[in-house]
Amino acid sequence: MTVMLPVPQMRSGSSAASGSAETAARGIRPAAAGLLDSYGRTATDLRISLTDKCNLRCTYCMPAEGLPFQPASKLMQRDEIVRLARIATEVLGVRQVRFTGGEPLLRKDLVEIIRDVAALDARPEISLTTNAIGLSGRAVALADAGLDRVNVSLDTICPETFAIITRRPFLERVLKGIDALAEAGIRNTKINAVLIPGVNDDQGADLLEWALAGGHQLRFIEQMPLDADHIWDRDVMITAAEMRRRLSERFELTPDAAPRDGAPAELYRVKRRGAAADGPELGTVGIIASVTEAFCDDCRRTRLTAEGGVRSCLFSHTETDLLGPMRAGAGDDEVADLWRQAMWAKPSGHGMSLAGFQQPDRPMSAIGG
Ligand code: SAM
Ligand code: SF4
Repeated sequence: MTVMLPVPQMRSGSSAASGSAETAARGIRPAAAGLLDSYGRTATDLRISLTDKCNLRCTYCMPAEGLPFQPASKLMQRDEIVRLARIATEVLGVRQVRFTGGEPLLRKDLVEIIRDVAALDARPEISLTTNAIGLSGRAVALADAGLDRVNVSLDTICPETFAIITRRPFLERVLKGIDALAEAGIRNTKINAVLIPGVNDDQGADLLEWALAGGHQLRFIEQMPLDADHIWDRDVMITAAEMRRRLSERFELTPDAAPRDGAPAELYRVKRRGAAADGPELGTVGIIASVTEAFCDDCRRTRLTAEGGVRSCLFSHTETDLLGPMRAGAGDDEVADLWRQAMWAKPSGHGMSLAGFQQPDRPMSAIGG
């Protein structure tokens, strides 16, 4: 059944406008397209949360005491995850699948899930976002299974600061995990860092120094209002502009000319401050300015929570359940259509700077970052 939905006006000059935007502007959701929304964007990048559990307690994400985690029966099983990845890639045009959480390495069947997804006819690029605890013992198996790329979250290389931010003294394990990736043949590991005022905001340049020396691309993420403790404060958060200002005390940052192509990070080429004009480039650094320089116009993401719910946006207040219908016997076409409907209703943006913005009930760890 084709569902007719009202269509908001297309934004003029929107970078989201594409060939399919015209279809959207006519107000009828196409019955058999990819994951098109009513603003003309098409999601091709799928984030799948594998669990809401985690072995760290990052202050900007989880409360110290943890959260009431979902019972195993409510979480997607391996075959259900692989089926949804197959529908996404073969029917809905998804090209990239990123596994996240909570902490995806806590899934004992992670290697098998990746192997199954890598065996799909329309094989997507497969990546993982992880805190890297326990990665050192599994990197080879994950690479052999078909894992293409990894983003490791690491906010500091100071052990004391790490223990304060994550509430666990595990920095060494994370560093071992990062080293194991290169040994397993997984290159171009990216490091994700959140700068927290008064905690590690004076350590950004040191972290960049470390990342450049190791050949990793560091990306600073603006802290978002997605923490369970509701500590986020727009007035004191470290903005992208402030990050650039502080990094520029030690480095020269030049915006990278390559097209961004839907990537959340704005990339900068890095040289040491004061180096000769023809001095060496040390690498690149990314800044993900989700709050102050939002990139919603070009968002290409769709998300599945660990319980099999579609979230069209990190900041959605609603979810569309796919797991329930699947367990009740829904066929692939029916599941695909539910997914399309959910994405058609994607809002134009997260609305963080609008009066009346409300933080979603579920924190980042439960949605899947
Ligand atoms: N546990 C894994 C990890 O930390 O990489 C995967 C899940 S975690 C929710 C995914 C990403 O979300 C991490 O890079 C983390 O730093 C980021 N994140 C969590 N809470 C955030 C927040 N309030 N603002 C910005 N980024 C956040
Ligand atoms: Fe766990 Fe990742 Fe959240 Fe930290 S950011 S508490 S590692 S889910």
